[in-house]
Amino acid sequence: MNIYIETHGCTFNQADSEILSGLLVDKKHKIVDNIEESDIIILNTCYVKQPTEQKMITKIRKFQKEYSDKKLIIAGCMVEIDRKMLKKVAPNSSWIGPHQLNSIVNIVENLEHDKIIQDIKRTDDIKVCQPKIRSNPLIHIIQICEGCTGNCTFCCTRLARGKLYSYPSNLIIKEAQNAINSGCKEIDITAQDTACYGKENNQSFSNLLNELGQLDGKYRVRIGMMHPKNIIPIQDQVIDAFKNHENLYNFVHLPIQTGSDKVLKEMNRQHSIDDYKKLISNFRKNIPEISIATDIIVGYPTETEEDFQETLKLLEEVKFDIIHVSKYMHRPGAISSDLKSVSYEVMKDRTHRLNEVKNKVMFDCNEKYLNTKQKILIIDKGKKGGYVGYNNSYKNVIVDNATIGSFINVEIVDYKSTYLLSKKIN
Ligand code: SF4
Repeated sequence: MNIYIETHGCTFNQADSEILSGLLVDKKHKIVDNIEESDIIILNTCYVKQPTEQKMITKIRKFQKEYSDKKLIIAGCMVEIDRKMLKKVAPNSSWIGPHQLNSIVNIVENLEHDKIIQDIKRTDDIKVCQPKIRSNPLIHIIQICEGCTGNCTFCCTRLARGKLYSYPSNLIIKEAQNAINSGCKEIDITAQDTACYGKENNQSFSNLLNELGQLDGKYRVRIGMMHPKNIIPIQDQVIDAFKNHENLYNFVHLPIQTGSDKVLKEMNRQHSIDDYKKLISNFRKNIPEISIATDIIVGYPTETEEDFQETLKLLEEVKFDIIHVSKYMHRPGAISSDLKSVSYEVMKDRTHRLNEVKNKVMFDCNEKYLNTKQKILIIDKGKKGGYVGYNNSYKNVIVDNATIGSFINVEIVDYKSTYLLSKKIN
């Protein structure tokens, strides 16, 4: 069968699609890039935000209308989070849950005989050392654990991904070394929360980082999002791993969500703003070139103007390199969905003020790179020409001419809020 896979959402969901492709190709099915050539369409959904939910529903209806001759399989977080909606918009499609990837071949082959399967039960399937088709041949994504130890009030992802399940570190290391041996230059370590790795089965996140930092070959490792509450207790060991291994990008993604201790408590994030600031200072004291990304939710139902001012103050004080802003919206099954939302006007005004501070903070952060020499790994062609690479702090660097997959030296000649411009030097 010819299969077209469309993926939405995070790096973790991208890796799920790469496994679906690997399992199908292993059984002689063909993954096609052009939907017209396909017999079956797999939509791997994301459901993290309300606009994304709407987009998934629109996509399903579009596929049903414009490609009624093709079979449709719905995968991803929507399958676990909102079965009621799925029954309404895709009752005649096959469904596959995020914990069910290994049943994709069976689902496809039943669909070949017009038999629909809507299989959603949880499994203990391990998502490491599975066949995979990479979306970027140079970047290998490894899921180190699925689920989390959190109970954040605004979140519905935990309903899809479930309780923490950490995969065996020896298999993670084996997959990483195999990927490097097969020509990959970047290993992306991903999870809902990488810092909770091994908490339920006595494995060590910092040991895993040390092992990932000393594999054979020339490569870089990007560590995915870490929940501050889980890295705060192990921060010294994790910082040592970064200090001891140039192969680990000096980059951490630590979502703070708000600058207000009151709102942080109401979100059930289980740490304080002060603990967070101490964590950031510890990273910066030990790794001056560390770059720090964070996420902010604007307009959480209990957020007052005073709370919001604390968020603006925190952004200006910490000076994050990357700030992702999202508007709070009720999610199916999320604890905070019973709360009264802030008004549209308040949401619009705060989002506008937050983005102004965000753009200025990110722009000012990049000034320090001007006229510096950087070693970058070229990962892809630039969307607007040139080539895209990352320096050791996982800063996005554009250069006119380079070979994809190579490490080159550049001089930074200009900067924007989200990337640096450079020229090649010897
Ligand atoms: S936001 Fe909280 S509950 Fe949701 S996946 Fe992350 S840690 Fe888990």
